[in-house]
This record gives sequence, structure tokens and C-alpha cells, in this order.
Amino acid sequence: SRMVDVGSCARIALGKGISAGHPAGHKYSHGHALVVAGPAGHGGAARLAARAALRGGAGLVTLCPPAAAMAEHAGPPDALMRRGLDNATQMRAMLTDPRITALCLGPGCGVNRAAGLLPVVLDHAGPCVLDADALTALAQAPHWPGGLSDNCVLTPHAGEFARLFPDLDARLAETPMRGPAFSRTDALREAASRCGAVVLLKGPDTVIAAPDGQACIHSASDVPWLATAGTGDVLAGLITGFLARGIAAFEAAALAVLLHARAARRFGPGLIADDLPEQLPFLFRELG
Ligand code: AMP
Ligand code: MG
Repeated sequence: SRMVDVGSCARIALGKGISAGHPAGHKYSHGHALVVAGPAGHGGAARLAARAALRGGAGLVTLCPPAAAMAEHAGPPDALMRRGLDNATQMRAMLTDPRITALCLGPGCGVNRAAGLLPVVLDHAGPCVLDADALTALAQAPHWPGGLSDNCVLTPHAGEFARLFPDLDARLAETPMRGPAFSRTDALREAASRCGAVVLLKGPDTVIAAPDGQACIHSASDVPWLATAGTGDVLAGLITGFLARGIAAFEAAALAVLLHARAARRFGPGLIADDLPEQLPFLFRELG
């Protein structure tokens, strides 16, 4: 198993042309991402994720709130499409469209709605990001920790990780007292191999592991102002955008973590989550 900095993981993604796009491409060849939004009152998180997916380079992003909550999702960005989605049957029908290349479930979704749609997302088996409410639903699902594939990225913060993997969380909490340290990287490798998906544990240091044993780590402890409402939703959306473009899950996660922190480094205290996606075009230019 390899242990590498997130930068070298991200370079692999860049080598595959993430910043350039296909010269002869059209919007569908740059991928179509669905971001599932929730009932009224949850609009912000889903919209942040959708905006980040657009900035990440997805050719199209469709935000899917319940029909009754469509009004809350009016407003910028204009490139964002919106389509009402009320139940699992409608979602199954939508996912028969082969042009949909990635899906984000969780931010601003509501736990009940996430729980109802999760089986459809997992049956679909396409590239997806499960975050926030989808992780709460996943931890309660009867098949957990089964049913996932390696093109799926889970993006828990510490609390969500503890709900998904209570035993690993307990081992991490005990490590100072016990013999050889059980590191966050060990915990993440175990988590990824157990559930079969890429797992990304957020915090001042973010650790990413894939089921095949690849792992990388990135410290953002120099940008503590990243710990503010909505930044996790932006990260989930950015990964979704990269997945939509055809980047593999582990590399998409690594590149997103790197660029998310770089965007934050351009600011200071006072940063809000909405500031982050706007930096992406400039960061892509710097990467070349
Ligand atoms: P969430 O918990 O879903 O809102 O996501 C929070 C985001 O902020 C993640 O990208 C974390 O990695 C990041 N983050 C949390 N705490 C810190 C910190 N102390 N310093 C830098 N980044 C942080
Ligand atoms: Mg979150």
C-alpha cells in the first residue's frame, strides 16, 4: 500500500486532462451531474454543492428538489438546471439517462429523503458522492457496510465517521493509551476496504483512502477559516464535478481536497463557503 501526499494524487488527475477539457468536447462530453436537493429550508447546502460541481467542470449540473420546494431553488447560477424529483421511482427513471455521469446525495437533502433515495443511488452503481444526510442514512441502512462500489466517495466529518464506523472511531480515540499508534490513515484504509468505497475523512487534516489500499493526506491546519458553514458541501460538489468529468474516485477526491484548501488560502478569516467555487477557474490556470 502506498502513502502519498494529496498533491501527487491530484497530479495524476491533472495528467488526465482535468483542467483542459476535451478540445472537441461539448457539454455532454464534459459530464452531467445530478445534485439531489431537499425539502424547503435546506436550499443553501445543495446549491453550494451544485455550484461547486459546475466550477469543477461538469458540462451540466441539474439540481433536483422535491417539486414543492422548486421555488426555493430559483436564483443564480443561471447555468444550473432544476428539475423536480419527488420519489424513488422518478429517480430510477431519471438515472436511465446514460448522459448522467455522476450524482451527489446528501448536502441539504434531509435524512428521510436521503434514506428513501439511497437504494436507487446504490443500485444505479454509477459514480457518486455520499455526504451529510446521505451518510446518516447510510449508517442506518440494513446492508451497511455493504452495497457500495469503488466509484463512490464518502465524505464524512469526524461525527459522521463515528456513526459509520464506531469501532474504528473508538480505536482512534484510544490510541494515545495503547502501544503502536493506530493512525488516521490505518483507520481510513480499514474503513475503505470494509465498505468498498473511497472514504474521505474531513478535518484540519483530511485523509483519503481507497479500497485497494491507496491513501493520501492533506493538511489544511494553516487555513482554519475553512471550518465554516457550507464548506463541506462545496467539497462534495467539487468531487461530484470531477467524477462527472470522468476522473476516477480516489483522484477526484484528492484533487478536490487540494483545490478546496488552495481556494481557502486565497482568503482569510471572513471567508464564506460561497467564495470557494469562484476561485476554481484561477486555480486551474495556475495548475496549467
Ligand atoms: P463540514 O464538516 O462538512 O462542514 O466540512 C468542513 C470542511 O472544513 C471540510 O472540508 C474540512 O476539512 C474543513 N475543516 C474543518 N475543520 C478545519 C480546520 N480546523 N482547519 C481547516 N479546515 C477545516
Ligand atoms: Mg457537511
